[in-house]
Amino acid sequence: MENKILLLVGGGHAHVYLLNKIIKEKQKFKTILISTNKYQFYSGMASAYIENIYSDEDICFDLKVLCKLGGIEFLEDKVVSIDPQKKLVILSSGQKVRFDVVSFDTGSELKIDEKNINHKNLIGIKPLTNLKEIKERLQNSSLDKIKVLVIGAGAAGIELSFGVKELGKQLSKVFEVHLVDRGKSILPTFPKKIQEIVLKRLSENNISLYLNEEVESIETQRLVTKKKMILEYDIILWAGGPTSNPMYEKAAMSVDEKGYMIVNNFLQNIDYPYIFGAGDCVGIKNYSYIKKVGVYAIKEAPYLWNNIVNFFNKTPLKSYVPQKDFLLILSLGNKEGVLSYKGFVLKGYLIWKLKNYIDEGFMRKFKNKQKKNH
Ligand SMILES: Cc1cc2nc3c(=O)[nH]c(=O)nc-3n(C[C@H](O)[C@H](O)[C@H](O)COP(=O)(O)OP(=O)(O)OC[C@H]3O[C@@H](n4cnc5c(N)ncnc54)[C@H](O)[C@@H]3O)c2cc1C
Repeated sequence: MENKILLLVGGGHAHVYLLNKIIKEKQKFKTILISTNKYQFYSGMASAYIENIYSDEDICFDLKVLCKLGGIEFLEDKVVSIDPQKKLVILSSGQKVRFDVVSFDTGSELKIDEKNINHKNLIGIKPLTNLKEIKERLQNSSLDKIKVLVIGAGAAGIELSFGVKELGKQLSKVFEVHLVDRGKSILPTFPKKIQEIVLKRLSENNISLYLNEEVESIETQRLVTKKKMILEYDIILWAGGPTSNPMYEKAAMSVDEKGYMIVNNFLQNIDYPYIFGAGDCVGIKNYSYIKKVGVYAIKEAPYLWNNIVNFFNKTPLKSYVPQKDFLLILSLGNKEGVLSYKGFVLKGYLIWKLKNYIDEGFMRKFKNKQKKNH
């Protein structure tokens, strides 16, 4: 067992839990974490971070520090391909890393057209560490009036729009926010009541909304939609829906219809039992209702850990049954939130306080560990 290697790919929400477990319970196997950035941002605090309610320190896990505390080797790099049969991954630096057991928690990616991806005034909201650049670009702009285009009116794009608007108020600058979506409604999977509350709030904040408009091309300072609407901009924040990392399909691993790696109830890849995965990057067989939200990555984490350890020990694995309903709180900006749970909808400051309590509690669990050991 001493020579066995557990490789963790991606420092996502589930793997942060695993790092914490390894710090507490020393294991006989060696662990390596590979992640594209030594920092991992917690998504629940994203929009409040933009409006300066939370600092970098509040929203961030330092993966390198967690690894040091757990005796884990950390490589700041990106896995670009997987050889599941030879049990190795290849990094963007060209380095090959072998494993006995591997777990993926690489999240989801953004689908941005190749021709637009390198546009200097377009920033994607994934990876979440990009939020730091977004905030700094807005704060440090020399313009008094900034035209911000947010692409995607799902939960992330909506929360981001409110956050940006609040930041503008704090800086006494005019942030003109325009929200564009190709769909016919905002938040299509949310209850009607929430859609109505959010629409009212968008209008109160003078956030313009353009539905049924799909981006066709992006030029310097202007965006053209397929219906030839022209929108001028200073910065574009891309919050289009999640998409999968193609490396799973390229490795000839079974993927679902959207390209996410398929795992069973033990969070084990259905082709290779020594490959595990959790969070946005997987699709769990027979549970198509699971959404790409951090809640699932967090709920899956204890099962992931238990099953990896038991796999090494050759003892039975535990079955994870994903919940259908989960508490969802959207931030409306300026410390107001709206909650949806099993058809219930509530709004206001206390809802935001509840979200703040849950999110800060989650962070504290890991931050305490980091501080205590320093
Ligand atoms: C603005 C915004 C707000 C959101 N708010 C909420 C919310 O309030 N509640 C909620 O439940 N969900 C929310 N979400 C969704 C949530 O962010 C995701 O569902 C969640 O982050 C998924 O967690 P994860 O562990 O799967 O991956 P992630 O948190 O995305 O982490 C993946 C990690 O893997 C790294 N990585 C990726 N690819 C590779 C690779 N090839 N090699 C090495 N490392 C790699 C990334 O850099 C990243 O550190 C929000 C999303 C956004 C964009």
